[in-house]
Amino acid sequence: MFEVLGRTEGKVTAFRMLKPDDWHQHMRDGDMLKLVGPMVSKRFYSAIIMPNLTPPITTAQQAFEYRQRILDATEPGFIPLMTLYLTDGLDPEEVRKSHNAVWAIKYYPRGLTTNSDSGVKNPADLWTPGTKPYDCLQVLAEQRGVLLLHAADGFDRAGAELDPYDQEKHFVMHTLPEIIKAHPRLKISVEHLSTKWGADFIVTHGGEYLGCSLTAHHLLLDRRDVFRGGFHPHRSWMPVIQPPEHKEALRHLATADKPFVWLGSDSAPHPRVKKEAACCASGVLMAHAGIELYAEAFEDMKALDNRFERFASLNGRKFFGFINDHMQTIELVREEWKPQPLFYAESGENLDVSELVPFRLGENIRWKLAA
Ligand SMILES: [Zn+2]
Repeated sequence: MFEVLGRTEGKVTAFRMLKPDDWHQHMRDGDMLKLVGPMVSKRFYSAIIMPNLTPPITTAQQAFEYRQRILDATEPGFIPLMTLYLTDGLDPEEVRKSHNAVWAIKYYPRGLTTNSDSGVKNPADLWTPGTKPYDCLQVLAEQRGVLLLHAADGFDRAGAELDPYDQEKHFVMHTLPEIIKAHPRLKISVEHLSTKWGADFIVTHGGEYLGCSLTAHHLLLDRRDVFRGGFHPHRSWMPVIQPPEHKEALRHLATADKPFVWLGSDSAPHPRVKKEAACCASGVLMAHAGIELYAEAFEDMKALDNRFERFASLNGRKFFGFINDHMQTIELVREEWKPQPLFYAESGENLDVSELVPFRLGENIRWKLAA
């Protein structure tokens, strides 16, 4: 389906592809949702919707109502794929009841990212029979749902606090193998993979039951970009942006054409005041260029071809069991543009409270969605 529409001096300047899916999307709620929703539905056929609202989405009813608010805020035809938030108290019966309403359950390590205070306190509960999180994963596996992992540990087994740059490494080496051993028939997606250790693990063990999503920002940036000339709050995420060798490992994984690797933007907007604050919130809006930034990364990686379409539009769908033969397409052209500041609440008295700083504000983005 991937079709080159224009080429200049051997370089692709325009192409058409199957409309992609975003397997990791924070659409938020309220006025912010109304701003972000159309950006997502313009570019993506469907998206996995993260459940870390306040309060978190932990029941089928909440997921159903949130889904309706998303449908009201997006273009007709867009399909939000709902998820539940795994808490210590999530009832396995609720998971059973949610079978037709949700596609996945999201694990957050408590306290390590936005709205993760309700996350599972003790990761060992994920593989310890008799705990509620364990029972929830058993039900999820029976239903062929997917466990979405924020793959980070806050502490080592001796209880010492881990360095943020080592959190994913520790999880991949110590926590993930335990989960897989305890739930061999559970489909697991490691979200926003960010390290070479993670990439190595996925290459070795990826397949029908294990895969990962990659963000555009982890493919485009490395740690030097976050600190060059000072700290850049609008290039700050969890998991943290790692040194260059990790970006290279992720780029290698993205272009290796593995069926267990797919697009998950982790677009996660916060108001400007929460980013430019004493304690900078993690996450940045990517939805304004949710596919364009990936096109840029794949162009840099010399992989703007069928591999890009499989990564963005086909691999995730197959893994999640989202059987859908739609033939909708999008077109991208190689044309530079600059993102502008965005405002999501006209009634806000303090402008900063309702302002979003999109990724690359004031800088160029190389690809543009054709109207
Ligand atoms: Zn996220």
